Amino acid sequence: MRRTMVAGNWKMNGSLETNSELLRALVAAPRAACEVVVCAPFPYLAQARQLLDASAIALGAQDCSVHERGAYTGEVAVGMLAEFGCSHVIVGHSERRAWHGEADAVVAAKAQRALGAGMTPIVCVGETLQQRELGETEAVIGLQLDAVLHLLGARLPELVLAYEPVWAIGTGRTATPEQAQQVHAFIRARAHRHGADADAVRVLYGGSVKPDNAAELFAQPDIDGGLIGGASLNARDFLAIVDAA
Ligand code: PEP
Repeated sequence: MRRTMVAGNWKMNGSLETNSELLRALVAAPRAACEVVVCAPFPYLAQARQLLDASAIALGAQDCSVHERGAYTGEVAVGMLAEFGCSHVIVGHSERRAWHGEADAVVAAKAQRALGAGMTPIVCVGETLQQRELGETEAVIGLQLDAVLHLLGARLPELVLAYEPVWAIGTGRTATPEQAQQVHAFIRARAHRHGADADAVRVLYGGSVKPDNAAELFAQPDIDGGLIGGASLNARDFLAIVDAA
């Protein structure tokens, strides 16, 4: 039985003041039935760790270095994230792939680093609008996934996958539950083909999830929760999405 997860990706948003307000509201809410993760920007991890301390909400980062340590200016190692209480880290977000040229192999190596540090990587995959319109959705996601499967294979159930169609991120345009389900089923089948225990792999959906569309998306058999961007910055919206899960 897969445990549902809702993870908030704050991206490059927040301040000491607004983080404090948001996290206090999340901590004050009744304990959720699903797993809840908040992925904060690096400088705010210590603040978030402190505010989440007595709660069941887990802390995550939004990226990590592919290297263990050394002369990599600006990079943050998984060991550092673990020291700051991060149990999760997003890797391969489409914004990192697009703006920082992260290739599939780099994303897979980051996921491996995270596992090595005892953390759960949340590995994002997804197609652009152009790729979808050209009928390339499964080919693109298949390649993104294969890089992870080749490196981590049977360890797949230890990580979390997130299907995030690039055309649905921050656009207000959500995949229909049927569109999302179709890709989630494809991801699970691909994992199965590579010998992973596909039924144990959690696959989140991300892309303009809001309180009013979350329940319908999460009701799909292969959708195990959500990776939430914009709506994770508002306590009421994020908690409503957590409730829907
Ligand atoms: C994201 O960036 O991971 C995301 C899903 O963003 P949004 O919910 O704002 O579309």
